[in-house]
Amino acid sequence: MLRRGQFQEKLTEAGFRVTRQRRAVYDKLIDSDRHPTAEQVFASVKDRLPRISLATVYKALDSLVASGLVQKVVTEGSARYEARCDEHYHACCVMCGCVIDINSDPEMQNRLLSLSPEGFRTERALVEFRGVCNECASPSARSPSRSPGRAARVAGGPIPSADAGRR
Ligand SMILES: [Zn+2]
Ligand SMILES: [Zn+2]
Repeated sequence: MLRRGQFQEKLTEAGFRVTRQRRAVYDKLIDSDRHPTAEQVFASVKDRLPRISLATVYKALDSLVASGLVQKVVTEGSARYEARCDEHYHACCVMCGCVIDINSDPEMQNRLLSLSPEGFRTERALVEFRGVCNECASPSARSPSRSPGRAARVAGGPIPSADAGRR
């Protein structure tokens, strides 16, 4: 797989050593499109590396981000990670915090960049869709593992406005 092939090259280029921990963390992200948090990555790499610590996972994620292999997505107050680094947007559920990829297209990207303020050198334009995911919208389909905290706060109400999503 192409992305796996870049692993050693990009890491070395950025001045990092290839370690089993970084490899394991990267593999988990490549196998997932769910934008896991560091804690979720930690929980899933433990079957491969039982002695790995959360701090090591954080350090591995930092080095992967610095190498351009992994993207850090900050949303709903939590940081999530993904191995997908091409231009795309995110839809974030304000109830469960899940993040869903939305493909970008060059036309949309150019239109966004054209909105840059005069003299401002835009590096990237990020677009985030806020709302309620399919699973949260139909409570009967919700899995019992989901946290009820957010759901309770907005249950029955309309889709929360920007200030509910800003936390
Ligand atoms: Zn949701
Ligand atoms: Zn994504």
